[in-house]
Amino acid sequence: VRGFEGKTVAVFGLARTGLAAARALQAGGAEVALWDEKPAAREAAAAEGLPVVDLTTADWSRFAALMLSPGVPLTHPAPHWTVERARAHGVEILGDIELFARTVNAAPDHKRPKVVAITGTNGKSTTTALIAHICASAGRDTRMGGNIGVGVLGLEDMHGGAVYVLEMSSYQLDLTSSLKPDVSVLLNISPDHLERHGGMEGYVAAKRRVLLNQGKGDTAVIGVDDPWGQRICTEITAANRRTIVPISASKAMGRGAYVLQGLLYDATGERAVEVADLLRARSLPGRHNWQNAAAAYAAARGLGISPEEAAEGLMSFPGLAHRMETVGTIGAVRFVNDSKATNADAARQAMSSYPKFYWIAGGQPKTGGIDALQDLFPRIAKAYLVGEAAPAFAQTLKGKASVVQSGTIPAAVAQAYADAAASGEDAIVLLSPACASFDQFADFEERGEAFRAAVQALMHAPAGAV
Ligand code: ADP
Repeated sequence: VRGFEGKTVAVFGLARTGLAAARALQAGGAEVALWDEKPAAREAAAAEGLPVVDLTTADWSRFAALMLSPGVPLTHPAPHWTVERARAHGVEILGDIELFARTVNAAPDHKRPKVVAITGTNGKSTTTALIAHICASAGRDTRMGGNIGVGVLGLEDMHGGAVYVLEMSSYQLDLTSSLKPDVSVLLNISPDHLERHGGMEGYVAAKRRVLLNQGKGDTAVIGVDDPWGQRICTEITAANRRTIVPISASKAMGRGAYVLQGLLYDATGERAVEVADLLRARSLPGRHNWQNAAAAYAAARGLGISPEEAAEGLMSFPGLAHRMETVGTIGAVRFVNDSKATNADAARQAMSSYPKFYWIAGGQPKTGGIDALQDLFPRIAKAYLVGEAAPAFAQTLKGKASVVQSGTIPAAVAQAYADAAASGEDAIVLLSPACASFDQFADFEERGEAFRAAVQALMHAPAGAV
């Protein structure tokens, strides 16, 4: 990381991202002072030889910046207090993407990579992985990271020819001001994570930041299927010299890229041209993926990848784990892992893909719970509730679906399998929690792996043992 040579940066939050940032700062000649609320996290950092400093008693006048890890919930007292302290001393607060951006901006032209930044409420990871897959298939040296997989500072050293495809959460965007994406993608906006952003306005403002600093030669891909995206698209069209590509999964447009009945049209030229039949793609099931595909296509074009190569990449995309992923089948019962559905809107995609399903749901609740899914309740053969949200979900489902309090994922899997098998029909057991995972797991990946492990245990259990 460049820009902090000889200065001291405080790092709060010592999970993967915080540790990667600390190492990158040190490698760039900065001093670091690391802290975390959790003693175990501090011990792990100290064991690696990284300097741990109690930020609650430290002299803040010696810090040039405070780097906040993206996972730090500002609602907790210690981080909140730390941020206040930094503000009071005029210490700049930034995130890992900002450290990356400054390094990119300081690099000479021949060493400056291309940057694609992707955000939105839903579909970020899929679209990020799709874009990375298209770039790699087209022969570009591709690094994927950010809010997916490896944190951006954990990626290999940058160089000129590379393309960085970065997923960005609204939390990360809030702490980023200097990133100039060659291609930015704003997929969609719907209410989520309102807790941290203090309401919808703050959330939309954070998402919008992905479009900051762009200029001539850059491309902004904007989903216009929701009113917020629509408005942002109109506003920036009036203002800027970058290329703007509106995308839609629901309507034809005079300009942009859109999908109708699974057919992807490129209308960036003089007339609309059909470029791909998404119904024949290897792993883009469901209408929600049409939006992701249109966005990925437009982003690839923005990088100068040909229409043919972009379309080929879409067709050969292998899909992502934890997103409507079939993890096993026992007899007529299929188990689908959609652990990534951490809110009602995301769960809707999977739930509306099956006419009937045995539903495993719950976890750490989000604002609104599952109220917005009422129209899908008739599809629920039975619900198996887990985690903190279970009592509230049971209340919402009362009289509308039969409910079991399962408590944990393995218990839910065993109970759902027993009921599904007893039905004697082709059946789907669907984990699509409509909740965050943090009450019982480190993240949604760990929750999905717990589901996979429980299914595998059943598959290998002796017949009649369950
Ligand atoms: P994110 O990274 O934004 O959380 P993912 O690509 O991991 O999004 O998808 C999470 C879930 O959201 C998927 O399981 C799917 O059900 C749903 N989803 C995916 N793409 C979209 C989209 N474009 N619009 C709405 N929901 C989507």
